[in-house]
Amino acid sequence: MKITNACARVWRVPLIGVWAWAAASSAGIAFAQGDDVPDVDGPPHPLFAALRNIAPSVAPAAALQTWNGSFSYNSRTYTFTMVGTNPNTTNVVTTIPVYIIPLKLTLQRGGQVFDPMSIPANTGGLTALQNTVESPLFDSTTTYIQGGVNVGTTQYEDAYQRASFWGAVHTNTNYHTLLGGPTVLPEVSLQVPTNKGKTGTPFGETAAEVSINWLDSQIQSLITQLGIQPNTLPIFMTYKTYLTKGPECCIGGYHSAVGGQTYSEFTYVDQAGLFSQDVSALSHEIGEWMTDPLVNNQTACGLLEVGDPLEGNSNFGDYSYALHGFQYNLQDLVTLPYFGAPPSTSVNNFFTFQGESLTVCQNGS
Ligand SMILES: [Zn+2]
Repeated sequence: MKITNACARVWRVPLIGVWAWAAASSAGIAFAQGDDVPDVDGPPHPLFAALRNIAPSVAPAAALQTWNGSFSYNSRTYTFTMVGTNPNTTNVVTTIPVYIIPLKLTLQRGGQVFDPMSIPANTGGLTALQNTVESPLFDSTTTYIQGGVNVGTTQYEDAYQRASFWGAVHTNTNYHTLLGGPTVLPEVSLQVPTNKGKTGTPFGETAAEVSINWLDSQIQSLITQLGIQPNTLPIFMTYKTYLTKGPECCIGGYHSAVGGQTYSEFTYVDQAGLFSQDVSALSHEIGEWMTDPLVNNQTACGLLEVGDPLEGNSNFGDYSYALHGFQYNLQDLVTLPYFGAPPSTSVNNFFTFQGESLTVCQNGS
């Protein structure tokens, strides 16, 4: 399901690129305000946030490395901005430094704690955070063979982007867009006010449900306090925490931009088969960040959001990849031809990384 910018008063930033899934079990909850989670049971409490003022050593302020391209569809030209360099005219490696900021959320309403430092039962003793760092999103030892074509031994999103532009990349073989690091910054503890978060069981397992507007305001403050620079990507990680917008639950992650500063949030859910399982939400969001970093690429389907058209598929569009003894779930992503670019742009004329059968704009965006 697509969460749209229905309430400009509450939504101060173009917070699109949201990955959401409707949960019927939360439909009966009354919401007082669009920004609040369910009705307040007691007097409101002030926000207590333990925010460390850390200035990571990053490159001097510089813009994110991006390139501009275009394609024609039905006699209209669509331009876009993506992360990296132009695969048609360059044959180089772009590496974007990544910071992961784990967010430990404590719900003032109920006192439960949701912590990315938790150790899921299926990781062999790794924390959710460690299991994310070891995932195919950052590890580059997985070989991706798509429809019989080896598109590279690399990180997942780079393999996807190479496949999406295989018409050029098969000759520009050194073309890569990589995530550097990641550098994990110290965990930040946030107290979720009574009217901004609660627990629920939207998919049958206990999870936090937290206002996306509230969390996004915390994240924007953190980007400033941490000294994050626009030429890097900060990723804010929560654990078993779905975001809500008014009565709508559950958002597994989002990507956004304030000016030239791009960023993303995702949650790690540890139960098999649930929405946002392990790094699936992150794989969705990073794919969308890489192909629409400023959240302004318009197409005939709407915004060029490469994860949204497939999130309704079985297992939420995820494919399983074994690495380090763990079965990671990585979401399939549509390629540029899905939005109307010439099919020859992508490997095997594929409309998705995994070769799912689709027509142009079939599932919207
Ligand atoms: Zn999305």
